[in-house]
Amino acid sequence: MSTDESDVEVCWYQERQAFVIRKRVDTPWSVARNAPLARYVCLRAGTDLTESVVVPIPVRPQPVVSTEVTPINAPSVTRIILQIGYYEGDLPSMIWAAMEARNSGNEGQLLYFIESNERRRTTNDEVFFDVIPKEPIVRGERVLELTAEVQPLPYGTPDWRPPRFSSDLTACTRIEVSYQPSALDFFFPHADQQTVLTTAEREYLGALRSVTVKDRTALHAFKDDIGKATRQAIVVGESKACVDCYAGDIRISTLEVRRNSVITERKEPFYFSESRTERRPDLTRLMPQLQPLVLRVHCADNLRHLYTRFRWYDAFRIAPSPVVHGGTNSRYPASDRWCDDILDAYRRAAIEHLIREPFTCPVVGGDKACYAMNPDCTFESPADLVLLCESRAGWNQHGGPELFTFDNHDPKGGLVLLNDGTVKFIRTEEELKQLRWK
Ligand SMILES: [Zn+2]
Repeated sequence: MSTDESDVEVCWYQERQAFVIRKRVDTPWSVARNAPLARYVCLRAGTDLTESVVVPIPVRPQPVVSTEVTPINAPSVTRIILQIGYYEGDLPSMIWAAMEARNSGNEGQLLYFIESNERRRTTNDEVFFDVIPKEPIVRGERVLELTAEVQPLPYGTPDWRPPRFSSDLTACTRIEVSYQPSALDFFFPHADQQTVLTTAEREYLGALRSVTVKDRTALHAFKDDIGKATRQAIVVGESKACVDCYAGDIRISTLEVRRNSVITERKEPFYFSESRTERRPDLTRLMPQLQPLVLRVHCADNLRHLYTRFRWYDAFRIAPSPVVHGGTNSRYPASDRWCDDILDAYRRAAIEHLIREPFTCPVVGGDKACYAMNPDCTFESPADLVLLCESRAGWNQHGGPELFTFDNHDPKGGLVLLNDGTVKFIRTEEELKQLRWK
């Protein structure tokens, strides 16, 4: 769960005389201040996910869904309970089914769900939804719990003020970044991100453990990013990067950078606001060679967002589509005005420029649509039929492989979206010919 301030909740659990660190929605303190956002990551059978927790000393409560902070009535904290919420099964489908069931006259909630996932999600392995404690969207959250007896930890008294982040990197002329376990896991941890990378790119990033950066512009951007760490907080993180900062040959600081946090040399964790993605430390700026791959993965994100809009178009369309494909009414928009129809259907979900954003390949930029719809693809078409392909700029483009372009991306290639949501990166005429268009 997350708010602007934190993505874990920390409370004093009076009954069990323990300090509880939790990432779960179904909490015993079900009183929300502002509805926080729950983030769940898909964990497939046989896979695991390792996270670590860094706790600043003295320990302090960090409320998210609790309005009341129970005072710690013990001389120190000697017991910590970790709780992680999870659901078994296909959570996104469970959310959709629950929303549909209660959707009579409640389109706004569905649209908001789509919009907030478009804005935050970077992979199909993530799902975000609003926590409404008294009226949960889905029920049945389970909780993994671990109790640890620890050495007595001091806690922050009410007049104690947490330190602000400070790391003077003014003199820094070089940084060395070590990725753990590798640059591939750090930047593109999800399978759907890696599928649009070539085998050679995956192997290169998988073997890349460290980089040295001396470029002044890149260093300046890094210092600027890191300076935006806002608030000391307990942080939980997945893959990480260790950043050694040097002035000449002298190491002046070592920072540990995670998805939305930074940990100083003194093991003080600081947090970047989750809701303002531009505040995150963007380590891709330290590696110019990554930029084409970042943009390609972003372009694939656009196609996945458009896929969701296509599949749910029928629920939000403004006027019934008169187009008939193969004798059955299509639940996709008409191909000769698909951009207009999708825009009209989702216009209520967010402000105009956010709704237009997924139409544009991030390499091309501006506000031009860069994808073409295959008119032969309907809602019921086979899974491997092309639905959208990357094209030159143009609104409401529709047609076959003749519209596909290799030129938007560098190295050359373009993305296609199949009718089951799969996104592929196509690099050669041969690969293009192997796709199914009819
Ligand atoms: Zn593109």
